Amino acid sequence: MILTIKKSDEEILESLKGESAVFIIACAGCAVKSHTADKQAVETISKLLSDNNIKVLGIEILGAVCNTQKAQETLSKNINFQKAKTILFLSCGTGVQAVGSFSDKRLIAVLNSAAIAAVEPSYSKFCSVCGDCILSYTQGICPKTRCPKSLVNGPCGGFVNGKCEIDPAKDCVWVLIYEKLKQNNALDKFLNRFIEPR
Ligand code: SF4
Ligand code: SF4
Repeated sequence: MILTIKKSDEEILESLKGESAVFIIACAGCAVKSHTADKQAVETISKLLSDNNIKVLGIEILGAVCNTQKAQETLSKNINFQKAKTILFLSCGTGVQAVGSFSDKRLIAVLNSAAIAAVEPSYSKFCSVCGDCILSYTQGICPKTRCPKSLVNGPCGGFVNGKCEIDPAKDCVWVLIYEKLKQNNALDKFLNRFIEPR
């Protein structure tokens, strides 16, 4: 099981700068067991949003956000999710990226994935539980885990035709992040930020 901890209100609000409406996804799997996606956690984040004039377009509580197929099935039937441009996650980083694998929306991580508890072995390829989640800045794609060099401030420059120099079967994760930053007009914001190496 992945233990999660809520980010500070300041960090959450900073990643929401310029947003006027969001859709919330909460995970009833691991995160609810960490009390970071239970009823009270949803109420707390909803209040923070309303206090800062950010409308909540809808809330979906998924059994386990990391179950990509089920998440896609459920969310494809949710009109408010379809309408939303920005999605806020009460889930671990894997849940964020599971939804990112079928959605181009802007993804905001509210929780830090802090540790893997003993209930299940680690099998995640999306999150290495660094404890200080940067998905809100990298468009919901984790370079710490998905770049073989764990580069968090841009690519190594070795990619060829968008493929990783270490594993040419895979896309360079920084090419994916760059394309999504461009699509969401967030390149300037990203380029002015230094991310401490995980
Ligand atoms: S930055 Fe990556 S490794 Fe760290 S918590 Fe987020 S998804 Fe996990
Ligand atoms: S090519 Fe891209 S994904 Fe591969 S090591 Fe370099 S930056 Fe990382």
